[in-house]
Amino acid sequence: SGIFASNGGMETEKTLAMIKPDGLRGNYTDRIRRAIVESGFRILKDRVVELDEDRASQFYAEHSSKSFFPSLVKYMTSGPVCVMVLEKQNAIADWRAMIGPTDATKAKATHPNSIRAMCGLDSEKNCVHGSDSLQSAHREISFFFEETGEIVGKHDEL
Ligand code: GDP
Ligand code: MG
Repeated sequence: SGIFASNGGMETEKTLAMIKPDGLRGNYTDRIRRAIVESGFRILKDRVVELDEDRASQFYAEHSSKSFFPSLVKYMTSGPVCVMVLEKQNAIADWRAMIGPTDATKAKATHPNSIRAMCGLDSEKNCVHGSDSLQSAHREISFFFEETGEIVGKHDEL
């Protein structure tokens, strides 16, 4: 069965987590992975990949009309990223809560224990990504992992 197969009623959920280029460069990977596991997530899959301009633009397509888009794409192509499929109950919301607000400057002020407060720099270089909804999680997990051969289930199997 594929990574979207049901879990026999355990009601777990999967989300896509990413350590962005600044996170890898800053050697935060081990610390972040430890925090993930200690918070009860299972890391089902992980891989280190480099996004080219096309792939980074596709990944952040929803932001293509924003003024910061060119800068975002440049940032996301500045080095390798580590993508992970995390699983636990309420994984999507819980991982978003763990990473904290988008702007790492604000995270440091209001969510000092968040990952972005620990590792991020500003509103762009914020170290980590997390899917923001069930649809995003499905799209983003497929984006990075379906090409490795897993059978991707229907949306209602998520
Ligand atoms: P996220 O879901 O918390 O990652 O935030 P968004 O989906 O709103 O934005 C996607 C990514 O674009 C963020 O994680 C940042 O890396 C970047 N970003 C968001 N807002 C800004 C901004 O105002 N300026 C810049 N330069 N980058 C931004
Ligand atoms: Mg987002």
